[in-house]
Amino acid sequence: MLGGMTEAPALPPTRLPQERRTVTDLPGPVSQQLAARRAAAVTAAVGSTMPVYAADADGGVVVDVDGNSLIDLGSGIAVTSVGNASPAVVAAVQEQVARFTHTCFMITPYEGYVAVCEKLNELTPGSFEKRSALFNSGAEAVENAVKVARKATGRSAVAVVDHAYHGRTNLTMALTAKNTPYKNGFGPFAGEIYRVPTSYPFRDPEGMTGEEAAARATRQLEVQVGAGNVAAVLIEPIQGEGGFIEPAPGFLRALAQWCADNGALFIADEVQTGFCRTGSWFAAEHDGVEPDIVVTAKGIAGGLPLAGITGRAELLDAVHKGGLGGTYGGNPVACAAGLASIETMAQYDLAARARGIAELTLPRLRDLQKRTDRIGDVRGRGAMLAMELVQPGTDEPDSAAATRISQACHAQGVIVLTAGSFSNVIRLLPPLVIGEELLLEGLQVLEEAVLAL
Ligand SMILES: *Cc1c(COP(=O)(O)O)cnc(C)c1O
Repeated sequence: MLGGMTEAPALPPTRLPQERRTVTDLPGPVSQQLAARRAAAVTAAVGSTMPVYAADADGGVVVDVDGNSLIDLGSGIAVTSVGNASPAVVAAVQEQVARFTHTCFMITPYEGYVAVCEKLNELTPGSFEKRSALFNSGAEAVENAVKVARKATGRSAVAVVDHAYHGRTNLTMALTAKNTPYKNGFGPFAGEIYRVPTSYPFRDPEGMTGEEAAARATRQLEVQVGAGNVAAVLIEPIQGEGGFIEPAPGFLRALAQWCADNGALFIADEVQTGFCRTGSWFAAEHDGVEPDIVVTAKGIAGGLPLAGITGRAELLDAVHKGGLGGTYGGNPVACAAGLASIETMAQYDLAARARGIAELTLPRLRDLQKRTDRIGDVRGRGAMLAMELVQPGTDEPDSAAATRISQACHAQGVIVLTAGSFSNVIRLLPPLVIGEELLLEGLQVLEEAVLAL
């Protein structure tokens, strides 16, 4: 049975029925009307995974404007880990929004910002003295982590890996690996960014260890950049948009050790992996790594825009006064949501729930893999799980298969997302509070879609 799901405390009651219900074809008529308005008003450059428009959401479901209830295996890209419209988040936001919505922390500060930083300092890996700063988005936080690293080390080179995703602003586009859709035509990009190979067990030479993959990366840095010029190695402990690539054990530890030996900082971009998603507060913990700086966003605040950087006090405090900030960073409403989310994760042991989701899902995906020659790899940790689609019997990526599977799931009322440098990965990111039955029903739809290929 579900160790993690049963050992965790019972979930809070939900407002909406936790069910899949399709009352129209998807998209329904009201969604289609909205799509027409959208086409005339919203730039076509912003895409959407599904053409259905949300009207309500709760727990593990999203209800659309036509009354269809969809099973949510995406959490708005790993954001609503505490559930869609988490009651604790809603109450905290309502309470805060009725008092004050903004003063700007740089003008008249407030407790919520301080309290979120205290929590980040307490929960991120590493028992050393820490400081934090808050921002609005993952990309903005990554940019600020790079600013801190450059200032604190006096060096400029930043190393990132193949398949990396760090955002869409100018600096983070440079840090991101995939050209289309993220970068194509948007250059020139920021300088002093160097890309090295990652650890990708499915595509690396058979048997390559984490240490060997790290040595491949650091040797390249030493030759092409010079160890003494590297301000930081920036990496996602499990790569998100790149396709849920979980490095071989020891890879992150060896990279972090190289950083420590060479005066560079090890920065973990935990924007997607953080806050219980992978079965512990942060994914760096799985490899026993204590990053110098941890970047957080997405799951931190139940859907309100909040992001943070947390790291060694001497690094964060190496920046001159006024060097970091922003008008909205650590907005009081977002901070209230963040505190309520973190409290909910602790209260309901959502890390254990994430482990339970893996215990339930991974065996089913592995069984499915045995029944088809289209799934090259099944991988992931906690509630961050994926399967990589390949041309039958090879390891050649098959993006068309991933598209067909995800569209078939969408048509049946199950939200799944794709990912991967080759766009051939189906990824699952359910809210950590999803009920077992709902999850099983979603997986059943997914299995049928794969077997119908
Ligand atoms: C989503 C993501 C970002 C960017 O976050 P935004 O809030 O979209 O700017 C950065 N890093 C990782 C690992 C992400 O998954």
